[in-house]
Amino acid sequence: MSDETLRFERCLPADFRRAMKRNPLVFLPLGAVEWHGEHLPVGLDSLTAHGLCLRAASRVGGLVYPPLYYGMTGSIWHHPWTILVEEEEILLKLLELTLSRLQDCGVRKALVFTGHFAKKQLALLETLERRWAEREGSGLRLSTLSISSMPDSPMAPDHGAIFETSVLFALKPNLVNLERLPSVEEQPAEDPKGNSKGAHRRDPENVLFGILGDDPRLLDATRARQLAGQLEDWLSAEALKLD
Ligand SMILES: [Zn+2]
Repeated sequence: MSDETLRFERCLPADFRRAMKRNPLVFLPLGAVEWHGEHLPVGLDSLTAHGLCLRAASRVGGLVYPPLYYGMTGSIWHHPWTILVEEEEILLKLLELTLSRLQDCGVRKALVFTGHFAKKQLALLETLERRWAEREGSGLRLSTLSISSMPDSPMAPDHGAIFETSVLFALKPNLVNLERLPSVEEQPAEDPKGNSKGAHRRDPENVLFGILGDDPRLLDATRARQLAGQLEDWLSAEALKLD
């Protein structure tokens, strides 16, 4: 199936009937709007979550809901072009409403997948799962996952650094603009004691300002595709566990 027919917002009634007959599953991708450095779009977390859900849905069936571009706040909330949510209840209400209407429409399984993994975002997923499980007679099975929790990930999850840059590169290479950063030779990362997540990266004068993790300029296309492939395999396998 092509992307087009997997995107919930583009479906006609007949598309819903066909998709739900094959697998009554909806993926809900979550992300955020936040600064990711000069080389990446602010919506990266939503874009990667959406792209990976589309890949998984093309394998196991189901549909992919439009990604949410609001995510819970973290320590970088004050960075430029960053809009994060303080109160968990705001997002919980939206998600519970969505799940409950999906259930009314005959959806039996939902997989919430977040590309944004601030501590508060992960706590939100836990609360959502707990509250959904406490509901009387819910006919929709829910699972929540974060891109940061894949077992045996070949790269440590990060913020705007090699991990996130690689995932977006594998999915949408035209959205990664490494040429917007000075070359490594010109301006190396210079991380004190090799710590790529230190306070220096929060200094707007730093070449890798707002990027927390290993230098994205060391991106390797093959490793990027392997990482995205592994994420796709994992997400597809987790979706099948809802059967
Ligand atoms: Zn991110």
